[in-house]
Amino acid sequence: MRYAETGFNLEIDLTRGNIEKVASDPRDTELYLGGLGTNAKIIWDRVPPEVEAFSPENLLIFGAGLLCGTPATGCNRTIVSTISPQTKLLAFSMMGGFWAPELKYAGYDKVILRGKSPDLVYIWIKDDKVELRDASHLAGKGSIETAELIREELNEPKAQVAAIGMAGENRVFYASVEQGRSSASRGGIGAVMGDKGVKAIVVRGTKDLNVADPEKYMELCNDVLKYIKHREDNPIPGVMPILAGLGSPQEMKVHDEKWHTENFMWGNSRVRRRDFWNEEVEKEWTETMEKARTRLISCFNCPMKCGATISMPGLPTYMMKCFTKLTYTMGAFSDLDFGLRIAQKATEYGVDGFSAPQVMAFALELLENGILTDKDFPDMPEDNEGRFFYLLDKIVRREGIGDVLADGTYWAAKKIGNGADAYAHNNIKKHEQLPLKLSMLNPVYFLMYATGEKMNITQIEGQFPQAPFATREEREAFVSDWIQVPDEKFKQILLDWEFRGENSNPYYPTVEMACDIVDWQETMHYIDDALGQCAGLSSFPLKPPYHIHNYPEFISAGTGMEMDKDKLTEAAKRYRTLVRAINIRRGMRRKDEKPPANHWKKRFPELEEKLLDEYYKLKGWNKDGIPTRESLQQLGLGYVSEDFLQRGILSKDDEAADQDTAAETSVEA
Ligand code: SF4
Repeated sequence: MRYAETGFNLEIDLTRGNIEKVASDPRDTELYLGGLGTNAKIIWDRVPPEVEAFSPENLLIFGAGLLCGTPATGCNRTIVSTISPQTKLLAFSMMGGFWAPELKYAGYDKVILRGKSPDLVYIWIKDDKVELRDASHLAGKGSIETAELIREELNEPKAQVAAIGMAGENRVFYASVEQGRSSASRGGIGAVMGDKGVKAIVVRGTKDLNVADPEKYMELCNDVLKYIKHREDNPIPGVMPILAGLGSPQEMKVHDEKWHTENFMWGNSRVRRRDFWNEEVEKEWTETMEKARTRLISCFNCPMKCGATISMPGLPTYMMKCFTKLTYTMGAFSDLDFGLRIAQKATEYGVDGFSAPQVMAFALELLENGILTDKDFPDMPEDNEGRFFYLLDKIVRREGIGDVLADGTYWAAKKIGNGADAYAHNNIKKHEQLPLKLSMLNPVYFLMYATGEKMNITQIEGQFPQAPFATREEREAFVSDWIQVPDEKFKQILLDWEFRGENSNPYYPTVEMACDIVDWQETMHYIDDALGQCAGLSSFPLKPPYHIHNYPEFISAGTGMEMDKDKLTEAAKRYRTLVRAINIRRGMRRKDEKPPANHWKKRFPELEEKLLDEYYKLKGWNKDGIPTRESLQQLGLGYVSEDFLQRGILSKDDEAADQDTAAETSVEA
C-alpha cells in the first residue's frame, strides 16, 4: 500500500481524448518526493528542449504535493508545472485553496495533460469517473463565473474548480489559473492551459487517504498547531507587522501600508513616494478595506486566514490575498478603491497580479515618451484609471496594442523596438519582478534574484531576517528560541549583522555566509514545493512551525519512507538540480542570472561575480551555472550528465562546451 500519496496519476491526451489512470513508480517518490520533485522528473523525461510552450508535446502537470490531503496543517498546494511561453523555461506556480487535497481524495496525485483539444473542454474528475466535457458555452466567461456555472451544471456544490479566464483562452503570456481561494499565476501556465483547449479542471473526491503511522502523525500535527498558537501569542518584535506573524504576508488583515507604499516603486517601477502614507490616506484606505472585505478566509486545513473575500459595490465577490492588494493601485498611481475594483476584473480574466499592472504602466510610459503614440491607443480614456481598465481589456482580448503587450514587457519591447527595451527595465529571465529599487546591494538578495528559478523573489526568501535588528539585545532575543536553524552558525551570523560599519551590506554577510543563507532558504522552499506545504507556514516566515528538524518525521510517519535531515536535504538538492538541468538544457546560463540593472543604486561588480562563483561551487555547478558531471553523479542524476555530454552542454572535462547548443538559440530568440 502507498501512504500519503495515492500512487496514481491521471494521464489525459487531449488530442485523442484518451484518459488513463497510470500507476507511478514508488522509487521516484523516494528520490524526488512528490509535487515539484516528481513534476520535474516527468518534464525532464518527456519534454525535450526543442518543445515550445504552445507545442502539443508540452505537458501541463497539476501535481498535488506529497503530504497534501493528510491532516498536516496548511498542506494544500498544487504545483502546476509546464514550459512557460514568457521565459521559455520551466514554470512551476503553486496554488493553495482546496484543489490538491480534493484530487488526492479522488484517487490521484497528478493530472498530466498533453496534446491539444480541438474544441474547448473542461475535465470532470469524480473519483474513478473522468470525462472531457464540452465547454463551448463557457468560452469568454470569467474564471470565478466559470467555476460557479460548472458547479451548478454538475449539481456538485463541493467540486473544486481550477479555471482560466479570457486571458488564458487568448494565450496571454502571464495568464493565471484561478481556483476560488487561490491561483497559480506566474509564468503563463493559464496560457498553456488555454492553448490546450482546457477551460477548467473540476475535481470531487470521496476516497480515503492513508498515512503510515497515524498516531505519530497526529502527534506531529498537534505539535504544529500548538506552535502556531505560540507564535500567534508571541509576534516577532522589531519587524514590520505583516512579517511579525505566520502565514502568507497578512495584507488582508493589516491596514498599515506605509512600508509598501513608500518603499516599493509606483508606475512602471520607477517612482518612489517617500511621504505618501499619512493619516488621511490611512483613514481612507482602512475604510475602503473594511467595507470591501466581507470575511477573512483560509485554504484547506489551515487556521491562518491569509485571504479575504472582497465585495466592491456593484461587482461580484472575489478572493484576494497578499500583495495584489497594492499592485494595480501603485501601477496606476491611484488608490485602494481602484485597486480592489480592477483586481476583480483581472481575477475573472485570469491574469497575474504582479505582471499585468507592470505591463500596463510600461505601455503608458512608452506613450509618454513618444515610443508609442495615440494611434496605438484608439479611444483610450484620458484618466489613468480608465486607461488601466482599457489596457486590461485590450490585453486579455489581444486586441491592437494589447496583442503586443500580452507577451509581457520583455517580448513587447522587442516587438515595439525604437528604444522600448530601456523601459522593460524590471525583468529577470524575461519576466517582471517586484517593483523594488533599493540603494545598497544586499548579497543575500543578489544571489536569490540572480539564481532563483522560482518566478518571484517572495517565493525564494524567508527564514533569515530581511534586515539586521537595530540592537544586540534584539538580536540575542531573536536567536534565543531560533530552533529552525539547520546549523548553529546562522545564529552567530545574525548576532554580528549590523546596519552600518564593517559588518553591514554589501560585505556582510560575507560571500560564504550569503551562500549558506540562500542555500538554506532555497532548500526549504523546494521541500515545501514537493510536499505541497504552504510556504506561509514553512519557508517564508520567520520562525515557522515546519522546519528541517520536524519535516523528516512528517515524511516518515506520513509515507512510511525512512527519512532524516541529510536524506531530505539531499533529495531537495536532487530535484532542485533537476529543475536547473531542465533550464540549462533550454539554454539558461550565467549570463541570464542578473537582477534588474537598476535594482540597487550601489553595485559591486567584483563582489557580485564572486558571489556567483562561490554559490555555483556550493551548489555543484560550474562557472557557467551548469551542474557538473561529478555533482550530477553524486545526486544519482547520471542520466542528466549523459544528456549534457551528448548535447555538448558539458564536455568530458566537465567544462561548458564552447559551441552554443541549439537549445541556447531557442531561449535567446
Ligand atoms: S498559511 Fe495562509 S496561504 Fe498558507 S495555507 Fe494557510 S491560509 Fe492558505
